[in-house]
Amino acid sequence: MQGLMQDWSLLIHRVIDHAATQHATRPVVSRSVEGPIHRTSYGEIRPRALKVAKRLTRDGLRFGDRVATLAWNTWRHLEAWYGITGIGAVYHTVNPRLFDEQIVYIVNHAEDRLLFLDLTFVPLMERLQERLPTVERYIVLTDAAHMPQTSLRNAAPYEEWLAEADEDFRWADFDENAAAGMCYTSGTTGNPKGVLYSHRSNVLHSLAAVSPDMLGLASRDIAMPVVPLFHANGWSFAFSAPMAGCSLIFPGAKLDGPSVYELLTSERVTISAAVPTIWFALLQHMEKIGGELPDLSRVVIGGSACPRAVTETFRDRYGVEVMHAWGMTEMSPLGSVCSMKPEYRHLAGDAWLDVKQKVGHAPFLVEMKIADDEGKELPWDGMTFGRLKVRGPAVAKRYFRLDEEILDENGFFDTGDVATIDPSGYVQIVDRNKDVIKSGGEWISSIELENLAVGHPDVAEAAVIGIQHPKWDERPLLVVVAKEGKQPTKDGVLGFMEGRIAKWWMPDDVVVINEIPHTATGKIQKTALRDMFRDYRLPGT
Ligand code: ADP
Repeated sequence: MQGLMQDWSLLIHRVIDHAATQHATRPVVSRSVEGPIHRTSYGEIRPRALKVAKRLTRDGLRFGDRVATLAWNTWRHLEAWYGITGIGAVYHTVNPRLFDEQIVYIVNHAEDRLLFLDLTFVPLMERLQERLPTVERYIVLTDAAHMPQTSLRNAAPYEEWLAEADEDFRWADFDENAAAGMCYTSGTTGNPKGVLYSHRSNVLHSLAAVSPDMLGLASRDIAMPVVPLFHANGWSFAFSAPMAGCSLIFPGAKLDGPSVYELLTSERVTISAAVPTIWFALLQHMEKIGGELPDLSRVVIGGSACPRAVTETFRDRYGVEVMHAWGMTEMSPLGSVCSMKPEYRHLAGDAWLDVKQKVGHAPFLVEMKIADDEGKELPWDGMTFGRLKVRGPAVAKRYFRLDEEILDENGFFDTGDVATIDPSGYVQIVDRNKDVIKSGGEWISSIELENLAVGHPDVAEAAVIGIQHPKWDERPLLVVVAKEGKQPTKDGVLGFMEGRIAKWWMPDDVVVINEIPHTATGKIQKTALRDMFRDYRLPGT
């Protein structure tokens, strides 16, 4: 027997329809790429997204076609996403920090037909366009006054292009399982792999994301996703914020400490989200100027591990709660957030910080397990390490145009992370499977050592890699970058770490370098670091 409820497919345009109906005047504020602060609202964004949809149709774009965006977080980028998906086409976010070769690979692999780009990226695309035969036209996200002279194929300024259509358009209607968006994982080895989100997966994932134990978004919130829309589906903010009806503040191209601080305070942001490096820069800036964050109540930090010292400084100095989050492109991307269940709610001081080092618990829609190399499930005792595997309606089942099977026999996807899970379901990421240091048959977590080392007052950033050792197989080498004007020493840093970790976890050496290499999504690039230290020998070997 079938239920007797309405057919109401989970299509993304319903989200912007809802925001424009229930939260029409809610501000959407952007630092425009041209410079000035731009103000609009959900009530104005919806008709402009309808125009995008109509105008794309006039350019011949059809259901299932891929449309690339190479853009910062701004209102135009948001309109483009809704316009693209509103005709059943697929937004494909391209990370501008990728190497030329990778951008060429993914645009060709996705066969993008049209490409929206910010002014910032005009020179980049002029350089690459000859190698991108599928792209028929380039729309520059600006107005006629700011449009540069360009050789880009069929180029037009967005505002002019948009003005050639009106909003008299109906969103297309189709199956909720249709593709909506795609994002390639940065692929530290081999080619990037395309993750293809559906309308249904994006809507369900965002419903989970707004819930109180996840981002906990409400119409009263003012949310600033510093995390770019091109990083792992923008951590859901393009959908979850309008779904909740909260204000959106977009930082545009300026993600440095002073610029982020300025918007956090001038727009009275209540919740923000970004990878740790953004917060390192913000905290350093605030330390310098004696900044305050009276309106900010929580920051979502994920993408890589959030050091304890960052969580502590936010709490003790600024009264802000860090929501440590974990996820990945293949998971839409949120997998867990560290919010307090009742059993941990009463904790304070160090005990509270201990829990905040974990990445929290999974929402409904994400099932988790840890397993050994043979696939045997391991206990949730907070101590046993295992491969973290996940399953759910917003988790990838295959990569775009790759035949490779990526799920185990029970439908779980191996995240490539090693983790423990405690009896309350809290996950602690020990390491990436390939980064964990194997010393004398035991494992050392590079993440834990890094998090501890950055707590040293002279250390700005830290990375740990395993170095070959004749007796122990591998031993940890700690690489640090000094804070401005400081000179951390090996003895000083090791002295600071002593007593806070098991003796045999202590790094065998500490090296100070000027800069730690990062990936296109702001993570420590361990492969590059291993290359840098390929010929390095640990003391005494
Ligand atoms: P990329 O394309 O840069 O690999 P992803 O965002 O998909 O982008 O990377 C996901 C990986 O990032 C996870 O599998 C995990 O290793 C790491 N990661 C994400 N959040 C955290 C966190 N809070 N702590 C530790 N590692 C994290």
